[in-house]
Amino acid sequence: MSINDALKEELTTKLQTAKARLEGELSRFARPTEVPGEYETRFEDIGTDMDDNATEVEQYADNVALEDNLENQLAGVTEALERMEAGTYGICSVCGKDIEEGRLRAYLSATECMEHAK
Ligand SMILES: [Zn+2]
Repeated sequence: MSINDALKEELTTKLQTAKARLEGELSRFARPTEVPGEYETRFEDIGTDMDDNATEVEQYADNVALEDNLENQLAGVTEALERMEAGTYGICSVCGKDIEEGRLRAYLSATECMEHAK
């Protein structure tokens, strides 16, 4: 048993929206690499004096951390869409039961039911 078609459709749309948003956010400061879903933070050269250099390094470090976070979210969303296509979306990977609807709505890329959530 898996989730019903109406919910499946609704969550697929939400996942696609989330994917587009994450890709949009990433493309503001990073560029895609040859590996799908992996990005590389651009180093912005804003100036050459010491203050500029310090700001560049700081901003780069922030962006790398942000890139990591967004990339992880993107991977979760992409995998969820793959499971949607394979027909395994919404099934707990531990017990094989349906994941609660409320949990899926709150956390689209959930792979465990509430009982088995990490
Ligand atoms: Zn479970």
